[in-house]
Amino acid sequence: MDSMYYIEKYDEYRKNVLNMQASENVLSPNAKRALSSDMASRYSLKIDNYNAYGGTLYFDELLKLLENNVKKLFGSKFSESRPLSGHIASEISLLSIINKNKNAIAISEEDGGYPGYANNNLEDIIGFKSYKMPYKNFNIDYDNLEKSIKTNNIGTVILGQSMFIKPYDMKRINEISKKYDSKVIYDASHVLGLIAGRQFQDDALKYSDILFGSTHKTFFGPQGGIILTNNDEIYNKIEENTIFKTMDNINLSRIGSLSVAVEEMLKYGSEYAKNVIKNTKELIKSLIELRFGLLSEISESHQILLDQNFLNQKNYNFLTFSEELEKNKIIIDRFGRIGTQEITRSGISDMHKIAEIINGICNKLNMINEINNIIGEKTIKYW
Ligand SMILES: *Cc1c(COP(=O)(O)O)cnc(C)c1O
Repeated sequence: MDSMYYIEKYDEYRKNVLNMQASENVLSPNAKRALSSDMASRYSLKIDNYNAYGGTLYFDELLKLLENNVKKLFGSKFSESRPLSGHIASEISLLSIINKNKNAIAISEEDGGYPGYANNNLEDIIGFKSYKMPYKNFNIDYDNLEKSIKTNNIGTVILGQSMFIKPYDMKRINEISKKYDSKVIYDASHVLGLIAGRQFQDDALKYSDILFGSTHKTFFGPQGGIILTNNDEIYNKIEENTIFKTMDNINLSRIGSLSVAVEEMLKYGSEYAKNVIKNTKELIKSLIELRFGLLSEISESHQILLDQNFLNQKNYNFLTFSEELEKNKIIIDRFGRIGTQEITRSGISDMHKIAEIINGICNKLNMINEINNIIGEKTIKYW
């Protein structure tokens, strides 16, 4: 078997499953076409008024178009769309804002926070100490956040989660952090597409110093990251920390594909994001009606969180339940998350049927005909 064999097999397989992984999405045919353009093997490096590489005439225009559209989409003063991933966007953002004499605070992994902010990962390479955000029942404990900022010399409040079902009280966080002269970073990796569609935490950028996120989770793009700010000084720091500090080559075809995705978001982002959240709420309602246990019966995002205890009663855990779904052509991750963003973009709207299938598989029923019917409805919308 050669590589092309596996690539063909992979695509055929993915066409014939229902992807409900919370951190993934499908590309439109145009965004996919852009990825395989000639740009895929080229360089571009803008230095002041000229490009250090030749042959970049059209790419330079494309990057300008992208940055203008990103600013329009999010209503930001500045944007940086070159980061190769959400994680790299996070590194650049932290490098641009961390005060080495002060500490940071972030939501812990056990509360659904991003592992990059824990276990000495980004702390180690950037050089800061992070405290655990006071957090309970999917809410920040704001009074204790204020106490922690005061007693632990917090200079940076890091918001955003990998298990993300509820927005924050940004106005309150802004007031608290201003009082102690600390900065606020909003990691919107999971919800960037919902924010672009103005259906989740519309005040995220208004009340933070930097908002950044992945371009491929709820957003329509290929893998990458976008950073936004309204602050001139912070933007200059972001630019200083981008080329030759965190990256050199920026993957031009990815930028082309992202530019297509941003145009799609400008046109359809609001309708898409509304439908994602509507589908989340409908799927939760139907699962509850079937007495399928969930960790939270509310979600205002694309995510639905499974309940480990409920699965245990059915003799599953996150891993084995995900494996059982996979045998039945439904793909989710192994940390207990379900996402509605990709099925929404795929034009699937019967959430009651999806709930019946998931609940049926959990109860060891044969649901294959129902699943195949749903998979047969898959298309790609919003482009
Ligand atoms: C996924 C994720 C990241 C990392 O993004 P990549 O694009 O995978 O590098 C960072 N922060 C949060 C909260 C995430 O969920």
